[in-house]
Amino acid sequence: MNVSGIEKMSLVDYDGFVASTIFTAGCNFRCGFCHNSPLVLDCKNLPIIPEEEVLAYLNKRKGILDGLCISGGEPTLQPDLKNFCEKVKALGYKIKLDTNGTNPKLVKELWKEKLIDYFAMDIKNDPSSYAQIIGFDKYDTSKIVETVDFFLNNDVDYEFRTTLISDFHKEDNIRKIGLFIKGAKKYFLQKFKDSESCIKSHLCAVDEKTVLKFQNILREYIPNTYLRGYDL
Ligand code: SF4
Repeated sequence: MNVSGIEKMSLVDYDGFVASTIFTAGCNFRCGFCHNSPLVLDCKNLPIIPEEEVLAYLNKRKGILDGLCISGGEPTLQPDLKNFCEKVKALGYKIKLDTNGTNPKLVKELWKEKLIDYFAMDIKNDPSSYAQIIGFDKYDTSKIVETVDFFLNNDVDYEFRTTLISDFHKEDNIRKIGLFIKGAKKYFLQKFKDSESCIKSHLCAVDEKTVLKFQNILREYIPNTYLRGYDL
């Protein structure tokens, strides 16, 4: 596992649990709003935290921490992710996995083998508008669709989430997202916060009035649509 960052204790990364979060290096997307640009654009030059160090820390914190969040970058690009999860599970931890949904095969395996307790999958935009927001000219969303279908049609614990960017998320996109993930268990609309570590500069968040409108639209399709990061 190429782990390039660790937050040793967090009360907000894994709902209801005290958790550590690790950040894996490398991603197959280039989302402009990404806060982890070094992990995405410069991953070869980042220091790697040895897997043994992460496991030793978790071993020492047994009984204090409940879980581990595996974030990135895109963790499903790590060839030994499954093996690593087995080791973390052997220590008795719950595991949450953040993913962009591009590796449905591994996601399914991880769930079926009970190696992940909770998934958080980004829905970047409606399928017809994916390419632009992830930094490409065109993009085949078939893998994304496959992962979404797996979550929608199986008894999996998961959430979908979208970081809202005013240039990319208009009412039409929101309606199409509603149709795309109709019936989802939980969906979070997240507020974008600009920072120096974003891949692109000058992106803007969706304002409070608009996000409430979006939430109302989405509740027709996904009753459990919530806001995250908005003071409302
Ligand atoms: S936001 Fe996630 S999927 Fe997008 S570039 Fe960053 S790490 Fe990759």
